[in-house]
Amino acid sequence: MSIVVQKYGGTSVADIARIRAVCERVIRARKDGHEVVVVVSAMGDTTDDLTAMAHRLTPMPNPRELDLLLTAGERIAMSLLAIAINAAGLPAASYTGSQAGIITDTRHGRARITDIRPGRIREALDRGAVVIVAGFQGVSTAADVTTLGRGGSDTTAVALAAALGAEACEIYTDVAGVFTADPRVVPEARKLHAVSYEEMLEMAAAGARVLQLRAVEYARGSGVMLHVRSSFSDEAGTWIREADERMEQAIISGVVHDTGEAKITVQGVPDRPGIAAAIFRPVADEGISVDTIVQNVSKDGLADVSFTVPKADLSHAATVIDRVAGEVGAERFTTDDGVATVSLVGAGMKSHPGVQADMFSALAEAGINIEMISTSSIRITCVIRAEDVEAAVKALHARFALSEQAVVREH
Ligand code: ADP
Ligand code: ASP
Ligand code: MG
Repeated sequence: MSIVVQKYGGTSVADIARIRAVCERVIRARKDGHEVVVVVSAMGDTTDDLTAMAHRLTPMPNPRELDLLLTAGERIAMSLLAIAINAAGLPAASYTGSQAGIITDTRHGRARITDIRPGRIREALDRGAVVIVAGFQGVSTAADVTTLGRGGSDTTAVALAAALGAEACEIYTDVAGVFTADPRVVPEARKLHAVSYEEMLEMAAAGARVLQLRAVEYARGSGVMLHVRSSFSDEAGTWIREADERMEQAIISGVVHDTGEAKITVQGVPDRPGIAAAIFRPVADEGISVDTIVQNVSKDGLADVSFTVPKADLSHAATVIDRVAGEVGAERFTTDDGVATVSLVGAGMKSHPGVQADMFSALAEAGINIEMISTSSIRITCVIRAEDVEAAVKALHARFALSEQAVVREH
């Protein structure tokens, strides 16, 4: 019997009617003769609501306790779905991350899966049950409950698919697949039929929420194909898999925006060897990931260093930089949470040097100022003002005619 792993996001299990709809889809997969493992997210905005409650008590909740709190969201969804499926006459059993054998390291709030021991899941499948697993959580090597970072249910699903030998993992969400831009910002965005792991990694890293970055890394590492599709319809979605010649050879795959980053600028830093390391090592040691970095050499041997960090880590990063700025003899530092990033992603960029200039002129024509730029071989990211982000996404989507069938790139 082939095994199907299905993951349902928050909107897809938001209320009892949606849970019934998931129940029906699961029953269909079972009747089609598959063994079915379902991974669920917390209902609707539960994770946001629980986080907000903890933050009303303190700005920096104890990470161990916060993880215990947040994992409750997925437990509610998993047990309700198991109750629904049992009531429909099919045996089903739900498991927390810990019960499902998802072992992680000890970093609360951003734990990484280090091992999967799917023994109990295998047993339940062998006795004919549908298995439901709470997403986004595991148990650490120190026996504490951990969470995998926002959007982490995607990673739970991919990791289980890999451990159970499933060929593909279905990611059911509230849009019909991966589009050339967030369809909530650009209604005419086009659904992509297939996207390579490489491009999806860059899109996820640039902030396309539709898949967690770690899930894409895990899928690529284990060769699991992903099928991102709507839980509201039966239409085919987007396949994420190894690139091959059948895949659309677009120069640009999509425009991605992210409003979750903030900017820190350290001003008047003595411009000598070792300064960048002195600034960024302590930030990294605190587990804060830095994205775009720009250094301007200003006059008199003093430089300004700007970089972005996730907004959620801004106050933490500011405490670190406050200390470091003193140590390296910087004049001052500022923080700015009014920025956003807009990125172009596409494997064809490697061989089309004009793309960058086209991007910058499209933004200029829309009257949008670029504050910072960073690039990889298949991505260009610009930091801009947050209030300009929708206009920027629309301008770039139009400039590169992404609604139309992709231009085939030359070989
Ligand atoms: P889920 O709760 O199902 O995990 P998420 O909110 O995490 O759903 O991710 C789905 C959302 O990702 C969509 O509602 C959409 O607004 C957003 N999104 C951003 N960029 C894209 C894109 N390029 N294609 C599709 N969805 C995107
Ligand atoms: N519920 C978690 C979140 O909102 C995990 C997920 O949905 O994937 O981030
Ligand atoms: Mg998600």
